[in-house]
Amino acid sequence: MTNKFATIAALRSAFSDGSYTPAAAVADALTTITENDPAIHAFLHTYHDTAIAAAKEATAAYEAGTADLPPLLGVPLAIKNNILVKGERATAGSKILENYTAPYDATVVARLRAAGAIFIGSTNLDEFAMGSSTENSAYGPTKNPLAPSRVPGGSSGGSAAAVAMGAAPAAIGTDTGGSIRQPASYCGLVGFKPSYGALSRYGLIAMGSSLDQAGPLTHTVADAELLHTIMAGKDPLDATSYDLSPTAYDKAKPLTIGVPRAFLKDGIDDDVAALFEKHLTEVRALGHQVVDVDLPLFEQGLAAYYIVMPAEVSSNLARYDGIRYGLSVPGDDLLAVYENTRAAGFGDEVKRRIILGTHVLSSGYYDAYYKQAERVRTMMRAELAATFAGVDVIVTPTTPTPAFTFGAQADPLSMYRQDIFTVPVNLAGIPALSFPMGTVQRESDTLPVGVQYSAPIGSDARLLAIGRVLYDERSASTSWTPPQQ
Ligand code: GLN
Repeated sequence: MTNKFATIAALRSAFSDGSYTPAAAVADALTTITENDPAIHAFLHTYHDTAIAAAKEATAAYEAGTADLPPLLGVPLAIKNNILVKGERATAGSKILENYTAPYDATVVARLRAAGAIFIGSTNLDEFAMGSSTENSAYGPTKNPLAPSRVPGGSSGGSAAAVAMGAAPAAIGTDTGGSIRQPASYCGLVGFKPSYGALSRYGLIAMGSSLDQAGPLTHTVADAELLHTIMAGKDPLDATSYDLSPTAYDKAKPLTIGVPRAFLKDGIDDDVAALFEKHLTEVRALGHQVVDVDLPLFEQGLAAYYIVMPAEVSSNLARYDGIRYGLSVPGDDLLAVYENTRAAGFGDEVKRRIILGTHVLSSGYYDAYYKQAERVRTMMRAELAATFAGVDVIVTPTTPTPAFTFGAQADPLSMYRQDIFTVPVNLAGIPALSFPMGTVQRESDTLPVGVQYSAPIGSDARLLAIGRVLYDERSASTSWTPPQQ
């Protein structure tokens, strides 16, 4: 695991001073995958040949001493397999897209590529990003590299595991209700969910279109910020994307940090709650003010999410009909083709959400469920806006528990409860950052748990700057040195 503690920043400086090369980094990344992935299964595909070819070119550019090399030149990245990479398989973790090849690059991929990044492979995920453990992947689960009897989280579990096992300094995931932050929490990483619209969704395989955003999983907030800045910004191919106005953070001014106390009462493991209190004490000691805030509608977040999200899922996934994309199972007439294809191609969780979604959107129930949930969502935004008038950021644990063992959350409702702190953020469209706050012990496993900071919509730059101060500047420096060539 030669890349284990490498950050993007460290790799970049080693490439620049010649102590390491992109060719060696990519070769090491591919070796790490060969050696470790049979046990972990973070990757669905590796992009062996294209990665090696790109690394050769990048190495030559450093050797030529070219001025102004792009910021990610030669940096290996892993990418969740619901994000299109031209010419590569894009399965979204589903059988229905098993043989689907992406005809173009997603905008975030195109931007990272233009910045010099080298994609080394696609990572495993819960089918169509529906889940919190990767157990819903049609290709089998991913294991947590820190504790292989446990899940890495989900749905971006493969991306988190790829970074945690040292195959890449960073990976890209997507987050509809927590799928970047929760695996970051379980794998001891930094995960960032940008404001809705900060990034283009063009080329992301849609789950819930009003909730989905792509974002980074990294070892440091600085690396997350770098990747985010490269991916962000208006894209003519996604009408919901826009350029955020710059927001600055004045380090000298103490923060006011809001804690939704009432929300933290139930369902959190005692040691996670204690770790969170310890984090608050540390933050107070840095001179920041921690105050209680009342967010009664946040508590309705999970219920509203599990109506809005399936509604959008049912409509987004209508396109998988055996005609347009991927799998096609023959039938006597067109309806039978639809039915046979969808019956064979989708897994249980996907079917469950499509059924829920069509139910809440049906004319008899629309007012009772969907409309009601959208109302909650609107009121939640207003409640948040009012709260952010008094506090800079809101903080909660990222997850109520550390990584659980396989099968431990087999009941879908108990699995959904893992998302209690993360889904309100997506409903509100605000940015949120998760970083490790410490570890707890489960049997012989020492397991990380994350803390989540969220901020007003559009203040992504400010939140990341706060994260650098609260995490990067306080964590032990990662003493990575390039391996001997
Ligand atoms: N775990 C949540 C769900 O299953 C979130 C998924 C996600 O963010 N893609 O809906």
